[in-house]
Amino acid sequence: MQFLARFLALIAVVSLIAQPAAAQSILRDAETEALLDDMAAPLVEAAGLQPGNVEIVLINDPSINAFVAGGQAVYIHTGLIDAAETANEVQGVIAHELGHITGGHIIRHSEGAGAATNISILSLLLGVGAALAGAGDAAMGMIMAGQRAALGKYLAFSRVQESSADAAGAEYLSKAGISGRGSLAFFGKLQNQEFRYGYSQDDEAAFSRTHPLSGERIARLREVYTRDPAWDAPDDAGLQRRFERVKAKLFGYQKPPERTLQTYPETMSGVPARYARAYAWHKDAQMDKALAETDALLEIAPDDPYFLELKGQVLLESGRPEEAIEPLRRATDLTRNQPLIASMFGHALIATEDRTHFDEAERVLRAAVGRDRLNPFAWYQLGVVYAAKGDMPRARLASAEQQVMNRQYAQAIRSAQAAEAGLPDGSPDWIRAQDIALQARAALERERERR
Ligand SMILES: [Zn+2]
Repeated sequence: MQFLARFLALIAVVSLIAQPAAAQSILRDAETEALLDDMAAPLVEAAGLQPGNVEIVLINDPSINAFVAGGQAVYIHTGLIDAAETANEVQGVIAHELGHITGGHIIRHSEGAGAATNISILSLLLGVGAALAGAGDAAMGMIMAGQRAALGKYLAFSRVQESSADAAGAEYLSKAGISGRGSLAFFGKLQNQEFRYGYSQDDEAAFSRTHPLSGERIARLREVYTRDPAWDAPDDAGLQRRFERVKAKLFGYQKPPERTLQTYPETMSGVPARYARAYAWHKDAQMDKALAETDALLEIAPDDPYFLELKGQVLLESGRPEEAIEPLRRATDLTRNQPLIASMFGHALIATEDRTHFDEAERVLRAAVGRDRLNPFAWYQLGVVYAAKGDMPRARLASAEQQVMNRQYAQAIRSAQAAEAGLPDGSPDWIRAQDIALQARAALERERERR
């Protein structure tokens, strides 16, 4: 996904800090993003929207919620994925949210959500993220809590908007030939608050607060869906398999290891269970067990780029970067340089501290941020490699990119100015340095006005 200058403008504030699970942050993961894009694609088309313009963004938050904000972005909480049984249920939610976009319901909400964002990267589980976090976690936590409250306040849609989004969503499902069964089941469960285990009352209520549910709404949906020719259409088996994997992966990534081992005990030998447990063992610093699960997965599917990515991640974060290179290079090749995977590959190359790897690292990382700027960690790595090669102006520019995403505006201005002074006048990098300085000054100005 071309993750977007447009989006960067929407998100004035981002951060590299490793977040606690409850904080409101974007969670980036190559496999999950690819799945959500594929689940949404037929609905986006049915809605008459431009496929390249609609983003499905994963929010790292255990509450069951989805919302739209600014531009054409649908935000889905990890808690919603966790609560859904099927890909079809989530498609029902996406169809409804697209109905809010085409209905133009989002203008007044854009401010509430735009400020709520920072970025965590799923493939950065241990160590590095925390090491970069530095000070400010507590302050960040408070900002998040404030934002979460603000979202609750701003994002409730009116009854009229809800029924118009329902009608639009039903139309898109129908046009795409996707059954409304999942949508009905999911909204029904939410309305009856059947999610007991593992969700707080607050978590359950989130979706109903932003999209007030009523018996009347559900009854009307049932009537429309059951009459539709698509009602009996079978679920897409391929999407469902991928959904179960992603759901397990997110579970393993987010929950405490002991919780993952309860839900996916070692007696379960299927792909999702092994996937979830690999994350649990890795989080628990049990590298051998994490690698055993990962190797079992690779035995089932030797060329699965996401299994290779995971193997590389475990090795890299366990201090074995040399061994991480091979699986990460293959994962990068197999996904034709997927930027998030490529940036972990670049990270492994640098982490070897072997200078013969640095040219390749620079190439890989430059290509990654060229396709997907919204990856503060890749910028950080790129700065490291430039500095190691003595290219200080470019190192300062990469730092400026990372700092502005990290909301360190004063530092970003200093880095951008230092970069500008050392870069050839009028070159693209020189122009970019000026842009970052401008962007950071404007952000500082807004912060001052707020105070
Ligand atoms: Zn709604």
